[in-house]
Amino acid sequence: MEFGGRSDQVRGERIALVSVLLSLLCALLGRAVLFSSRCARAEPEPLRDGGLPVLVLRGYGDRGPFQQAISSALSRAGVEHAVQEESKLAQEAGGLDQRRVVIVSYGAQMKPDTEALLLDFVEKGGILCAFYRVPPRLASALGVRLGRFIPDDHEQRFHSIAFQKAESLPGLPARVVQDSWNIFETTSDGAACIGRWEDSRGQPSGFDAVFLSEHGTFTNHVLTAHDVSGKARFLAALLGHFDGGVWTGANRVLEARATAAAREIDAVAAGDPTRAADCQERANQARQSAVECAATDPAKAHSLWMEALRQLELVRCSPYRSKSVEMRGVFVPQPYVAPSWEAVMSRLEEGGLNAAFVYAGSLGRVFYRSQLLPMEARVQLGEDPVGDCLKAGREHGIAVHLWFNALNVNDAPPRVLEELRTQRRIITGVEPGAQQMACPSEPQNRKLVVDSVVELARCSRPAGIMLDYFRYPFAAGQEFCYCPHCERKFVEETKLPQDGWPKSVQPGGEHYDAFRQWRCDNLTALLAAIRSALAELTEQQPVPLLSVATFGWPDARNKVGQDASAWIGGRLVDSHLCLNFTPSVSYFKTLVENQVREAGNEVPAYCGIGAFSHAAQFDGPLQLVDQIEVSRRAEAHGFVVFRLNTTFLDEFLPALKMGVTSGRASVPHVQAGGDKGK
Ligand SMILES: [Zn+2]
Repeated sequence: MEFGGRSDQVRGERIALVSVLLSLLCALLGRAVLFSSRCARAEPEPLRDGGLPVLVLRGYGDRGPFQQAISSALSRAGVEHAVQEESKLAQEAGGLDQRRVVIVSYGAQMKPDTEALLLDFVEKGGILCAFYRVPPRLASALGVRLGRFIPDDHEQRFHSIAFQKAESLPGLPARVVQDSWNIFETTSDGAACIGRWEDSRGQPSGFDAVFLSEHGTFTNHVLTAHDVSGKARFLAALLGHFDGGVWTGANRVLEARATAAAREIDAVAAGDPTRAADCQERANQARQSAVECAATDPAKAHSLWMEALRQLELVRCSPYRSKSVEMRGVFVPQPYVAPSWEAVMSRLEEGGLNAAFVYAGSLGRVFYRSQLLPMEARVQLGEDPVGDCLKAGREHGIAVHLWFNALNVNDAPPRVLEELRTQRRIITGVEPGAQQMACPSEPQNRKLVVDSVVELARCSRPAGIMLDYFRYPFAAGQEFCYCPHCERKFVEETKLPQDGWPKSVQPGGEHYDAFRQWRCDNLTALLAAIRSALAELTEQQPVPLLSVATFGWPDARNKVGQDASAWIGGRLVDSHLCLNFTPSVSYFKTLVENQVREAGNEVPAYCGIGAFSHAAQFDGPLQLVDQIEVSRRAEAHGFVVFRLNTTFLDEFLPALKMGVTSGRASVPHVQAGGDKGK
């Protein structure tokens, strides 16, 4: 990327033009705007230490996904950038002087010294692009004022951001999909609003989203992993607005990428020529047009390079073969999808998938009609998202496994959570802010978990039920649970002396190993109780397949009490479903090989692949294809991708369909609680 002086004149003219358009627009909308037409920064200083001009700052409270979404979008756009954690910002070599742009992934927990550094950076002419929330002085520097916190309450009011007069900022897309779950209401204090929130039906929801000022931009939610190509265009347009040289640099990167991809395609045996030919042709056209308009309209050239790369990626996915029997699923972490379940299931079918693992609720709150558990407000009003999902799944040949957070009560209504706490039914010692979980030793909890799973099976008749949070809490350096229920049950069942609890069962204590084994047995017995209760469902209420979302990392037994071998050996599950969320292909391979061995000939082994997870954000579909191929070579029986989002539907699924899922596949035949067929 270039931030050189050559582009300053062009940039100045463009900023002047943009500000006039924005002023007109804002005047039309009845908003005051103080958008300066002067160039944001005088002659930039040369970079020291070869540092990159764009820094993505991972704010406190961002465990990784928000920064990764920004990095993925920038990489997709061909914008080179550095990444730094907020805690290490002060140690940045050369301070922020060497940066031109700082992008803050999450500013809600920003420390005062970070704020001071960034204020100084902005005062010296640096460009700040901040997401979600920033302290008041920094907000003021960006020309905005932040107001109340507005949660979405599942109404999908913050589904997309529509950009007004997108053409006024070269390269800006018409809209990007966010699927945001809350915002901080934001009003202009000098900045121009350039993007507003729309709901999932494409209707304006009445809230501003993106603001532009001479010092940078502010967006009132984090950047999500949805719609990565749209986000790439969005970020490139913002940066390109402040420096036209961004386009030149990014175009050079994308052109090199396209050349390398084309060379690779030429080098390997051609895929299915009928599948790949059209894409190849479209790629050639886009590349040619990009070269032609590179000098006159670099933003347009950028868009063409991105299109060329998308087509080349499809070609590169085409040599991979399909399989006829395979679990091909996707995790859907919320039961409301846009635009509708009918549309989504139709897309999954078209993409060659055959299963969806759809969130139906937790012990704290559910999205279906329940006599036992608190219901989501919209369900109380008569909505039935789980029912809609099952119906559409049946129509499109997608087996629906309902995902139930068995011991998680984090999203329970506050009143219920307080009640559970008073009754000492919550696992103790979990840090505030971490997921609150019901203790699996407490008798009422155990009964409620069993009854709830049976109720879910009875009412919804899904193909399967997947239990998640069927484990002890996971926190580095901490173990659980030492509550009075666990104490009583441990002593009763192990016949070990009670003296010294909890010291005797903690690391270094004489009964530490016995305690860890007992935790596993405690969960295994609960799973057995669920299994036998489900087996009693009558012919009219078919028994769903049962699976548990199992930690893929080694030593899940000791870390979280998940004893998958015991579950498989005791036929308490119908598949061995492990979450192997990692970007590393070699680590993924090691995990899968162990799991296939562990599943043996008892149950099929399914790999959870984290394409959009805390642990991994895939840059493109080829990374997913790689892991699917690894799982096949390891003789796993299928895969479930985390997670459904717009990027998955629009970009990954068509790429899978080019090769690995080009033919239909049936799910491996498994009889609930019985023998695995061929
Ligand atoms: Zn306990």
